[in-house]
Amino acid sequence: MYVVSLWALPLTVLVSVCLSVSNRCLPGDSCFPANIKLIKFMETLDGKLHFPHTAEYDRLVDRYNRVIVGGSGHTVSVAGYTLGGGHSPMSRMFGLAVDNLLELQMVTANGHIVVANDHMTQTSFVNGSVSTTDNTDIFWASRGGGGGTYGIVTKFTFRLHFAAPQVVQFLCSYPIRRLDGQNIGFAVLRKIFSILTTLPKEWGGYLLISGVPDKSGNFGRIMLALNHHGVLNSTSRASLDQMMNFHREWQSFCFYKNFSSFFQYDKTAQETPYFSSYSTNTLLQNDSFTNDLITFILHKMETEYSNKSHLGMTGTLLGGRIMTVGAHETSVNPAFRSSSMSLTASTSWTHSVVDYSSLLVRGNEIGKYLNKFGSGQYVNNAGDDVMNWQHEFWGSNYMRLLAIKDKWDPDDFFTCKECVGFENNRRSPYSTDGKFHAPLGPIFGK
Ligand SMILES: Cc1cc2nc3c(=O)[nH]c(=O)nc-3n(C[C@H](O)[C@H](O)[C@H](O)COP(=O)(O)OP(=O)(O)OC[C@H]3O[C@@H](n4cnc5c(N)ncnc54)[C@H](O)[C@@H]3O)c2cc1C
Repeated sequence: MYVVSLWALPLTVLVSVCLSVSNRCLPGDSCFPANIKLIKFMETLDGKLHFPHTAEYDRLVDRYNRVIVGGSGHTVSVAGYTLGGGHSPMSRMFGLAVDNLLELQMVTANGHIVVANDHMTQTSFVNGSVSTTDNTDIFWASRGGGGGTYGIVTKFTFRLHFAAPQVVQFLCSYPIRRLDGQNIGFAVLRKIFSILTTLPKEWGGYLLISGVPDKSGNFGRIMLALNHHGVLNSTSRASLDQMMNFHREWQSFCFYKNFSSFFQYDKTAQETPYFSSYSTNTLLQNDSFTNDLITFILHKMETEYSNKSHLGMTGTLLGGRIMTVGAHETSVNPAFRSSSMSLTASTSWTHSVVDYSSLLVRGNEIGKYLNKFGSGQYVNNAGDDVMNWQHEFWGSNYMRLLAIKDKWDPDDFFTCKECVGFENNRRSPYSTDGKFHAPLGPIFGK
């Protein structure tokens, strides 16, 4: 459950009200039953009542002429998103969510309450005593080490940024194969990849590829859905004007559109309708965009399509500001700092598919093959049963993350599959059979 309270700058988000371990929350702690009343009155972008998620904050901070780095999915909650790293349509301009995290409050496995930032860690013990240290390990580990691992976060404080006077959207869409049978996908992707790797940091957003026929009889879609923070200048226009003029006769549509704020732009984002889906992820670097990668993607779009299932890919643009943060400054996979795209491949199927085991196997194979083109995976979008997951998700940050886990949660009270400390059914009685159990361990597992 989430309650949001806004201060002028930065934004503080209170989460997980009363998710205290062992019912140890005392009056004056971060369990405020009164806040639950507030939750009931939270309205969301679509006018319905939900638990607040990252898109809520866009609206909140927009009132103060600020922007916050948040996810694109309007159903994504702030905690898992942030603890895993958190990429955003604004990340090329302002970095990952963890690059903007200033402080958090967490309930640890033994019921202590920790407030941590990049210069101190303060622990309030169950017996009422308080200690402060300049060791910042737990804050570092929380900036990318993953959700459900070190404790239950009850409050986040994020840096806000001044809003630009204008946000410009660029939408450009081509089919993969035209009605007349002409395969244009290769040429379009080749052009897009040559442009994406040169974009100014003000541009962020997504490359969306899907393998389904459209109503006009074309097959598939390759779409750039980008946003520009600020009024366009000639450099910002140059690359995308090239796209605008690239085989206009092939385009389904291609245009720029102005918005008065990021919130106004974000409101137009359409949520994918819910259906079953299995995703894998690959972090791609500039030299990953080979002809072999393009050929593989387009081949799979065709062969994975049936009237009950299909393949789609979302490439989130990285680079820009993300690359200016040191590889070990936060605990996300250092590969994030040298990658230009986080590519998530999703196999989706309709509810009429009862046995989807073969789709999962094929989805995993596609993921493994894509991984050969890049380096590392984003833990929040990754698949299941990832070989060498420690290295794939956290690279050279893993051993430090494991040591911090050992220090703060030596009994593996918090455990989840392929999370820090999960290896070899270590000590946790909740993972002795090696199977997946409730992400937050015993509290939710019973
Ligand atoms: C539709 C969709 C869109 C997405 N878009 C983006 C995007 O734009 N950018 C991006 O980076 N990712 C995106 N993701 C991936 C997203 O970051 C992950 O799915 C993330 O795990 C979601 O976090 P959650 O808290 O909503 O999920 P949950 O499943 O509730 O939590 C994920 C993990 O965090 C743990 N956790 C939850 N709350 C807490 C807490 N308070 N303290 C400690 N641990 C906690 C859970 O136990 C679990 O292990 C998207 C996912 C979907 C399904």
